[in-house]
Amino acid sequence: MPLAEQRGGAGSPAAETFESTAPATGAVVGVFPVHGPDDVRAAVDRARAAAATWADLGFDGRRTRLAAYRGHLARRVHELADLVHRENGKPHADAILEITLTVDHLAWAATHARKVLGPRRVSPGLLAANHAAWLEYQPLGVVGVIGPWNYPVFTPMGSIAYALAAGNAVVFKPSEHTPAVGTWLADAWRAAVPDVPDALQVVTGLGETGAALCRAGVGKLAFTGSAATGRRVMAAAAATLTPVLMELGGKDAMIVDDDADVAAAADAAVWGAMSNAGQTCIGIERVYATERVYDAFVAEVTEKVRGLRPGTDDAAAYGPMTMAAQTDVVRRHLDDAVAAGGRIAAGGTVEGRVVAPTVLLDVPETSAAVREETFGPTLTITRVRDAEEALERTNANPHGLAGAVFSRSRARAMDLARRMRSGMTSVNSVLTFASVPALPFGGVGESGFGRIHGEDGLREFTRAKAITRRRFGIPVDLMSFARPAAAADALARVVGLVHGRHR
Ligand code: NAD
Repeated sequence: MPLAEQRGGAGSPAAETFESTAPATGAVVGVFPVHGPDDVRAAVDRARAAAATWADLGFDGRRTRLAAYRGHLARRVHELADLVHRENGKPHADAILEITLTVDHLAWAATHARKVLGPRRVSPGLLAANHAAWLEYQPLGVVGVIGPWNYPVFTPMGSIAYALAAGNAVVFKPSEHTPAVGTWLADAWRAAVPDVPDALQVVTGLGETGAALCRAGVGKLAFTGSAATGRRVMAAAAATLTPVLMELGGKDAMIVDDDADVAAAADAAVWGAMSNAGQTCIGIERVYATERVYDAFVAEVTEKVRGLRPGTDDAAAYGPMTMAAQTDVVRRHLDDAVAAGGRIAAGGTVEGRVVAPTVLLDVPETSAAVREETFGPTLTITRVRDAEEALERTNANPHGLAGAVFSRSRARAMDLARRMRSGMTSVNSVLTFASVPALPFGGVGESGFGRIHGEDGLREFTRAKAITRRRFGIPVDLMSFARPAAAADALARVVGLVHGRHR
């Protein structure tokens, strides 16, 4: 069945459609419905019914079905990777890496949900010693997921997998640049989990469809995209007090300290900056290298970058920019950097949608290439006195998604990592935290708030529920009008004894 005919989960065919095209060739990948507010609401209503069934399955029932889903994906890695390659433009091998990471997260979320979220007894404390106290994390019902196009499988599944494992149904609105991948994921769900097919549905369309999802009465909205759109999503969600998760952009820095393995740092910086054509929210966009290692680092990076060949074929190091408009942003940043006195040490050219791997030196901190998210295969390298200055400059940016530290001193590197104002930091590597399912993923400041992945990622899609159960009566019940007048004085004496000694 051609993708053009796919229904995308929202039932009756929408009147309007839109096309998704291959960045490499401009060929049409699929034609998809523009789902309007009524379609979106209908999908959310169906999801609400499915959510009840899904929640009733319990942790074990959900775990077996999530296993069937990941088995389905794992058996079709090449099919999905081919679609990602066509629609997003990244090389097939990078798409396989993305899908593999996703499958690993699906496994972790499903197998850890009970331990993290299931009912547990907690200490009732002194005042409620005659009660049992229970804590559990309950699903929210329907979670709306609005996704970007740069990692069209891994990024939205960071919310979808954890929301499903926590017992929610999901309505997913993929980016208008990657609707075929989103639709494939939902169709795979229906095939792998036929008894609860509406627990994961897709609605397709442009920004308006996303806006409709914000107003459709979901229990939570997980948004991944730009800060500008994130603000609009929050404003819409405010009207109904719908909680939101914001995974926004980054301007991640790498710090290369005096004692770093310069060759390893250069290799990681080039991969962190250039892979996926630099369209990685946690990609390295700036490097601060200390005086001692700066020259050697720049030499290593420029050497490595010269060996990279971007292009549209499968053997290319990275593909074309997924969105044509993003090349304008890259050009603007390059022009601004050069106008401000920056030097291009490598690359600097844009041909069609293919941006050459670009290294910029001596770019002032006030330039757009250092301040704003570029989202292209570019890297600024700045000489700093020492790692403290590097950290100061890293932390001066309003974004705070992730970053990296290179140093041979374990203690020093860990200290720098802790003080980096970001949600995630890798020491002596880049992006590694994203491949550790137990670690939470998310940012601070302009990079958003809330966490996917790990225990925090499971709890993100739940509400904490507190229950106490009286086990036996006691002679004096403090929460009763029948309590004797002297009880309050006795209580004051106990508080004085237990806590009053602290000064
Ligand atoms: P975008 O903000 O343009 O779009 C994101 C999604 O929002 C799309 O699905 C779009 O259709 C939808 N949308 C647009 N207007 C809307 C509205 N008014 N209401 C609701 N939804 C609306 O972002 P993009 O260009 O697709 O994605 C790139 C950005 O995403 C980059 O800034 C990147 O850093 C960021 N990103 C962040 C993470 C993370 O985890 N922090 C991961 C990947 C990408």
